[in-house]
Amino acid sequence: MARNPKYDILFEPVTFGPKTMRNRFWQTSHCTGYGSDRPGTQARFRGMKAEGGWAVVCTEFCSIHPESDEYPWHSARLWDDGDVVNLRYLCDEVHRHRSLAGVQLWYNGMHSPCLESREVARGPSGLPSNVFPERCLYDAAADEDDIRAIIHMYVLAAKRAEQAGFDLVEVSGADSTLPMQFLERRYNRRSDRYGGSLANRARFYIEVMAALKQAVGDRLAVTTRFETDTINGECRIQHFDEGLHFVELMHSEGVCDLWAVKIGDYEEWGEDAGSSRFRKTNWMRPFVSHVKSIVGASVPVVSNGRFTSPDDMVTALRSGQCDVIGAARPSIADPFLPTKIAEGRVEDIRECIGCNICVSRMQQQALLSCTQNPTSGEEYRRGWHPEHFEPAADPCSVLVVGAGPAGMECAMVLGKRGYTVHLRDCAPELGGHWRDVARYPRCAEYGRLISYRQIQLEKLRNVEMHLGVTAMTADDVLQYGADKVVIATGAHWATDGLGAEVHRPVAGADAECAEVLTPEQIMSGKRVVGEKVVVLDGDGYFTGVAMAELLADQGKAVTLVTNMNMVAEFSKYTMEMPNNKRMLHEKGIRFLTNHWAHSFVPGRLRLFYLYRDSAGLYEVEPGRWGRRTSDELVDLECDALVLVTARVPNGALYADLKARRAEWQRHEVQAVYRIGDCHAPRQALNAIFDGHRLAREFESAHPQHPLPFIRERQLWGHSTIPQRGDLRPAVEPV
Ligand code: ADP
Ligand code: SF4
Repeated sequence: MARNPKYDILFEPVTFGPKTMRNRFWQTSHCTGYGSDRPGTQARFRGMKAEGGWAVVCTEFCSIHPESDEYPWHSARLWDDGDVVNLRYLCDEVHRHRSLAGVQLWYNGMHSPCLESREVARGPSGLPSNVFPERCLYDAAADEDDIRAIIHMYVLAAKRAEQAGFDLVEVSGADSTLPMQFLERRYNRRSDRYGGSLANRARFYIEVMAALKQAVGDRLAVTTRFETDTINGECRIQHFDEGLHFVELMHSEGVCDLWAVKIGDYEEWGEDAGSSRFRKTNWMRPFVSHVKSIVGASVPVVSNGRFTSPDDMVTALRSGQCDVIGAARPSIADPFLPTKIAEGRVEDIRECIGCNICVSRMQQQALLSCTQNPTSGEEYRRGWHPEHFEPAADPCSVLVVGAGPAGMECAMVLGKRGYTVHLRDCAPELGGHWRDVARYPRCAEYGRLISYRQIQLEKLRNVEMHLGVTAMTADDVLQYGADKVVIATGAHWATDGLGAEVHRPVAGADAECAEVLTPEQIMSGKRVVGEKVVVLDGDGYFTGVAMAELLADQGKAVTLVTNMNMVAEFSKYTMEMPNNKRMLHEKGIRFLTNHWAHSFVPGRLRLFYLYRDSAGLYEVEPGRWGRRTSDELVDLECDALVLVTARVPNGALYADLKARRAEWQRHEVQAVYRIGDCHAPRQALNAIFDGHRLAREFESAHPQHPLPFIRERQLWGHSTIPQRGDLRPAVEPV
């Protein structure tokens, strides 16, 4: 199909400094965990976005020097020639698809843990880090020689970037990096020409940019990513206070070819990577829209906002908010988003759902993965392409039982590969448990997980969907007539309080009773009796807080009890923790951490504190523990108890089929596999990955067991760069 002309503006070229991007799609710098130590994964991941139409593709934060060492978080690095070699592959991949490669230069001052390099970062005032207050991190206060040395580090890194093939260097002046530490009053206590007035505090940032312009600026674009508002009040950067004034100052120096603007800082970068539970598309607009009027027509502005709809993108451009559409998460969920708009296939866009699982992987010091796009991060190590599927050499018929995330994904990929698929579910609609999730408070955008797959499945003539059927038994499956069977029957919430804490049911907790409920029962309308409700959360992600909010909105007095250190503990990884806490506070939801349920009778929930036993250890004797035990209990008034404790696999159908293996041949069933939560209940991204992987590897010798993937690591006996004894280029002035 042809492109809709109203989207033509998105495909106009934009010039910045010495470079021109071929359209207005910019993949903003974003973390992956691939860094420069996993060159294949990094290059193919970024290259895929270039192939999909993103005109500029940037790295994640890229440390310029061992003094800014983020380990165990994996940044890219431009420390030495080894990094040049590894990042060159990324640039080659991006250039192969006519796009520009950008690298974000990062020096993190006081917030650098330096756990690998063991060096000491320099900073404006020798203060402790507020981002990691528990880690005893301090910067060394920089004198003017130090300042010149750091600027030289930026220049050396930019030269290495040029050697690797990058087209632009982006100075991170966001996320509380060193330029911001000089700029912000809270960090900068100096009384010399780098402290005091805004012009003085801005000097370091501007000098870095000027040095880069002078060193590489005729060949590479020199840009910055700047937060116009840190959203945390006094002494920090506020939009109408120092945010816009700084833009005016730097712009008047003519040292910045392009501004990528955002909000939030390192302490709360959930305001930058806003999740859909708390921030809707283009939520940063009020904070970033004035930058364009300062820098004028000749200097482009990039604005982010989890844009997935081309209409929203066009509105942002036409309103004068920005010249370029920046995206991190939408480009992860769909590397081919620009191409799909260009080809008039907007309905095929795999829209980001704003869950921040991608962010959570980085926050767990792991590798980026995406809920919506199971191929992200797998382009190199498993050879997966998000849009290309190897046709099956000998397609057979496949019955998929269960149309939740795992079953839908598996049926879709098998269908794209040419198999004849019957996807059957006893529920009247697609989606499995995710249909409930998408109706939780704030979770509407999560529904895109279902709608994307529904649209794709409906397009596949070789996939039949049978919904609202009678629940399939082993007899039904064996007599169905399919060559192969995939069981994707999901999981359900425990009805007896079984959870990770103590691994036993809670005495008296039985969801058959009127006073005890599971999330599924609440979503299907079971009445919540009484006024005082306790949500017992052993899951630690969004379901517990969602149930608490839902019931508080119905006027109940809600208490959230968890065994974990924090409410919705996992949300510290998705960057939703601060806003979860604000929401609970605003809605008057009380919470109790490090407690678990001992027993329940209608009207009273009895709890125990996890650390009620003695700290000291005593002689072990038969029949006696090593600790002095306590039987202290805490009583909560509780009319209704909601169990968000653990999920239990719906494993019976698979087990029945396996027990009847001897009958498979008679029914001409060649194989039975299981995927998703019926195998082991996990987050949706894993259920989707399971379904996807099985369908990709359907002809392997043992599809239930994953094929090996490429592991990127140093192989013993091969030389390293640098080697012990090599010299590091001097950065200190002589
Ligand atoms: P997952 O996350 O693994 O995809 P879900 O729990 O979301 O799992 O979805 C499982 C789906 O399987 C549900 O829609 C449920 O209705 C369906 N299902 C479970 N058992 C059967 C069965 N025996 N026959 C047909 N459908 C089933
Ligand atoms: Fe979007 Fe979630 Fe994928 Fe991240 S993991 S890109 S937030 S869908």
